[in-house]
Amino acid sequence: MAAKAGGDTIFGKIIRGEIPCEFLHQDDKCVAFKDIEPQAPVHFLVVPKKPISRLSKAEDSDAELLGHLMIVGKKVAEQLGLMKGYRLILNEGPEGGQSVYHVHLHVCGGRQMNWPPG
Ligand code: AMP
Repeated sequence: MAAKAGGDTIFGKIIRGEIPCEFLHQDDKCVAFKDIEPQAPVHFLVVPKKPISRLSKAEDSDAELLGHLMIVGKKVAEQLGLMKGYRLILNEGPEGGQSVYHVHLHVCGGRQMNWPPG
């Protein structure tokens, strides 16, 4: 059977419109929406429509798409008023804390972000 467009994770269902979601951004390559369990006053995800499971599985040809996620992340951050800064996070694999295996960028802001991260 052919793989479903967008992949079979929860994010695939969101991308295909099978789960209702208010998008902060949507274009032909990606969507952005609020994280369901926010870790900061502003916490949203930027998710490519292409179902790359994790960063380590990305190919050289995905470079433009992955860069696009950052550009969308910074535009949405601006729209949400994050003028004093924010943090981009991409969790990779088990030790990176990845829980949804559809690559995505977290954008967190609205409070002072600390270092080192947990
Ligand atoms: P990660 O642990 O990096 O794979 O991040 C997955 C993120 O997806 C977590 O921050 C979850 O809170 C978030 N998440 C899971 N399901 C949903 C959903 N239905 N809508 C929005 N965010 C979700």
